[in-house]
Amino acid sequence: MPHPLHAFFKQHRPWLNDHALDADIRKHSIKDEKYRHYIDLDSYHEELDSLQSIFPLSWSMAIEQWGMDSIQHHGVGPWHAHLEYLRLINAYRTADTARILRHAIDLAHYVSDLHVPLHTTKNYNGQDTNQEGIHALWETQIPEAFQEIFNLHPRSHGLEAEWIESVDGFIWMRTLDSHSLAPLVFSHEIDVRREFESKAIDAYIIRGRIRQLMRSEEFVQAYYLKIGPQVESQMIKSIHAVSSLWFSAWVEAGQPELGPYNADHRSRFKKMLDWWLK
Ligand SMILES: [Zn+2]
Repeated sequence: MPHPLHAFFKQHRPWLNDHALDADIRKHSIKDEKYRHYIDLDSYHEELDSLQSIFPLSWSMAIEQWGMDSIQHHGVGPWHAHLEYLRLINAYRTADTARILRHAIDLAHYVSDLHVPLHTTKNYNGQDTNQEGIHALWETQIPEAFQEIFNLHPRSHGLEAEWIESVDGFIWMRTLDSHSLAPLVFSHEIDVRREFESKAIDAYIIRGRIRQLMRSEEFVQAYYLKIGPQVESQMIKSIHAVSSLWFSAWVEAGQPELGPYNADHRSRFKKMLDWWLK
């Protein structure tokens, strides 16, 4: 992230970490929240080519075509992510730190959800193909088992925050791209199941203080060998998308100064630290 965004977001990193899952927690208190984290693209069409010709589609056109109830039911992820982007632009304009952080982290959440292929299909937990639990396998068990060896630093992949001209188109492109990976997510799982005929596919896994029935550790390892860098690569793409969107919204807002008081405060603190070190 370029100046002054890098310093601004770095300074608020603890807050961002603490609130990254707020959007999921809101599902319990806000009725429509649950529709904002996904889109069942295969409810619109089975073929990727056809989906690419249907989307992007504006919110008003979509409502005209399918009606509000149907759209909500199939999920409004990409439309809502775009709305959150527009809110972030407005927040930058008001220079209100709390508002900027709120919309920045919510945007990050919605956009990252769309990088999970299982957030783009109606078979989101493998319930239609006897693969229940595949959601947590992909988005929880694989990252938790391999985060130590994942290299998620965008710069080491030659990526830096980029100006995105058409944000609407970008969000839809990423969503369709994510959806194109879904067939492999399912087929690799079926392949590993076949190899595991005599071995345990599921096991009780202890996460924090909760004991949950998930895929066994051996299964997670075998699935990772099959699926390769897909999960890591989607995570890198989502990190890059988030920083580019945070940057683009700031440019769109007229590149305002961010938190001058805090910047001052930091330099005063640094001066004091230098004095102490001397
Ligand atoms: Zn979510």
